[in-house]
Amino acid sequence: MRWNKKQFAVIGLGRFGGSICKELHQMGHDVLAIDRDEKKVLEFAAFSSHALQLDSTNESALKRSGITNFENVIVAIGEDIQSSILTTLVLKDLQIPKVYVKAQNHYHQKVLMKIGVEQVVQPEIEMGKKMAEHLGSQKIIDSIDLSADYSITELMATPKVNRKSLNDLKIRLKFGVTVLAIKRGEKLNVSPLPDDILQAGDVLTVLGTKKDIHQFDRAGL
Ligand code: ATP
Repeated sequence: MRWNKKQFAVIGLGRFGGSICKELHQMGHDVLAIDRDEKKVLEFAAFSSHALQLDSTNESALKRSGITNFENVIVAIGEDIQSSILTTLVLKDLQIPKVYVKAQNHYHQKVLMKIGVEQVVQPEIEMGKKMAEHLGSQKIIDSIDLSADYSITELMATPKVNRKSLNDLKIRLKFGVTVLAIKRGEKLNVSPLPDDILQAGDVLTVLGTKKDIHQFDRAGL
């Protein structure tokens, strides 16, 4: 598969924005790191393609930074809600295609959604949910939300699968979830066939509504 290098700008280099910036940079993407605090900018010079000190509520400064060349902008300003909202409005005015904003609380989230931000994240709440999912389920390994209703989840197959095939277990018919892949040790079987046999310890990657996936999880297969 061809490597698809993307351009990201991260505004606010606290713990959340900082870790996004480092991770994307490490993955090889272009990352413009922005903070009004000079110390942060110096710290992140090594973990970004370019680090700039500016106040993101200042529209002309933001324009001069070249931010309009970036398709994805992450606003990771938490505590200063006013700055977060003003920055987001400026980005919306500049018609940045994808703006992701960290919300500090429910009201902040509501305002962001009202001004048309589709991707609002509340990392503490999302991490809490994920952790509860891990603690509450013996089987769920990881999960990615595709929307409010749908997710892709990795689950560990239990001895109940007892060398049965996907067809025998009728997973899609009974639970409404689709098995996208089966991992056994290092071997990955993508788009498994109905006759493929499952074993305890296999890692199943399933796609479905969160409700159906939880039902599948509770069935303890
Ligand atoms: P954390 O991710 O550490 O939990 P937080 O939610 O507490 O962060 P803040 O510390 O308020 O968020 O902000 C994160 C960063 O955003 C800080 O480094 C701060 O300097 C920067 N920041 C805040 N307002 C602006 C602004 N108007 N322009 C640029 N950077 C800003």
